[in-house]
Amino acid sequence: MRPIQMVDTKTQYQKIKPVVDSAVLQVMESSAFINGKAVQDFTTNLSTYLDVKHTIPCANGTDALQIAMMALGLQPGDEVITPSFTYIATTEVIALLRLTPVFVEVDPQTFCMDPVALEKAMTLKTKAIVPVHLYGHAAPMEEIMATAKKHNLFVIEDNAQSIGCDYIFPDGTKRKTGTIGQIGTTSFYPSKNLGAFGDGGAIFTDDDELAHKMKMIVNHGQSKKYYHDVVGCNSRLDTIQAAILDIKLKHLDEYIVARRKAADFYDKAFTGHPKIITPYRASYSHHVFHQYTLVLEGIDRDGMNQFLTDNKIPSMIYYPVPGHRQKMFDQFNVASQKMPVTDWLTERVISLPMHTELDEEQLNFITTKVLEFINK
Ligand SMILES: *Cc1c(COP(=O)(O)O)cnc(C)c1O
Repeated sequence: MRPIQMVDTKTQYQKIKPVVDSAVLQVMESSAFINGKAVQDFTTNLSTYLDVKHTIPCANGTDALQIAMMALGLQPGDEVITPSFTYIATTEVIALLRLTPVFVEVDPQTFCMDPVALEKAMTLKTKAIVPVHLYGHAAPMEEIMATAKKHNLFVIEDNAQSIGCDYIFPDGTKRKTGTIGQIGTTSFYPSKNLGAFGDGGAIFTDDDELAHKMKMIVNHGQSKKYYHDVVGCNSRLDTIQAAILDIKLKHLDEYIVARRKAADFYDKAFTGHPKIITPYRASYSHHVFHQYTLVLEGIDRDGMNQFLTDNKIPSMIYYPVPGHRQKMFDQFNVASQKMPVTDWLTERVISLPMHTELDEEQLNFITTKVLEFINK
C-alpha cells in the first residue's frame, strides 16, 4: 500500500508534471515573474469558471480577506460578524484592521454560520458579515443574504475551503460559493482544493466600483503609476504560481469528483454507526470535501488519534481552539461567551485523510482501523 497522507500534493503533481514543468520553465525563460501573462490568463479563466465579473489575484487568502474589508471603508469599532468555528485568518484580519469581531455559533449539522445566531448578534454597529464555507460545504447563503439586505450590511464570503462548490437555489439554479455576497475570497495555499506550489489568493466581486478599489489596494493604493490615492498594501500572485494554477484549474472539477468519491467511501463505512456522525450534505450545497470531518460521540479522541498515528494514518483536529477563546482576542472579552455548539464540535471533530489521490486500498485500511478503534 502507498503511504497514507493527510494531503497528497506530490502524487497529484506527478500526474500533471510535464505540463506544469513546461509552464514553470516558460515563466522562468520569460523572466516576467511579476504580473506576467499567466496572471492575466488565470484570472480570466477563474472568472469564467466561477461566473463572476472580477477576479483580483493577491498573495494569500488572509490578504484577500483583509483587502476585501479595507475596500468596504469600515471604521475602527465597526462590528463584523463571523463564526467562531473557523480558521484564525477569518477573524484575525478583523482585529488587525481595528474592527470588532463578533463571534457567532455555527449550525451543528453544516458547521457553518447559524442564521438565527447571526440575526441575534445584530447591533447598530454591525457593518459586515463574513460567513465561511467550511470544509467544502456552503454556508446557508439565502438566509445570510436576506439578513444582510434587511440590515443593509456587506457580505464577504470566506471561500478558502470551498472553491468550486455549487450553491443550489430552490428553483434549481446554481451559483459558485464566493460569488453570492458582495465579495468572495479564496486561498491557493498548497493543501487547498485549488492549491498552488506556494502561497496565493484571490478576491471575487461583480461590483465594478469595489473591484476598482481592490485593484488599487493590492497595489499600494495606486491609481496610475506613482500616484497613490488610498493606503493599500503589496499583495500579488506571482506569475509562476498563476501558471501552475491555470493548469490545475482545468482539473478542478475532476479533483472535486475524486474528493467526493473518497467521501462516499468513508460515508458507506461509517453512516449509521451510533458513535459517529458523518458529514452532512445540505440539499443546497454541492459539498467539495476540503476536509472529511467526523463528529465522534463517546470516544476517546486523543486515543483514536494516537491509534491512527501508530498505524501510519494521519488525522487532524480542525480546530482545537475556537476563535472566541484565542488569546489574541482577549481585548474583546469574548472568551466567556456561551458557544455550546462550537464547544461541542471543538471537543468531538476529527478530520481523516482527504485528497484527490486516495485509492480503495488506502480508504479500506483507514476505515477498518477507525472502526477497529471505535468498536473495541
Ligand atoms: C486557509 C484559509 C484562509 C487563509 O488562507 P492563506 O492563504 O493561508 O492566508 C482563510 N480562511 C480559511 C477558512 C482558510 O481555510
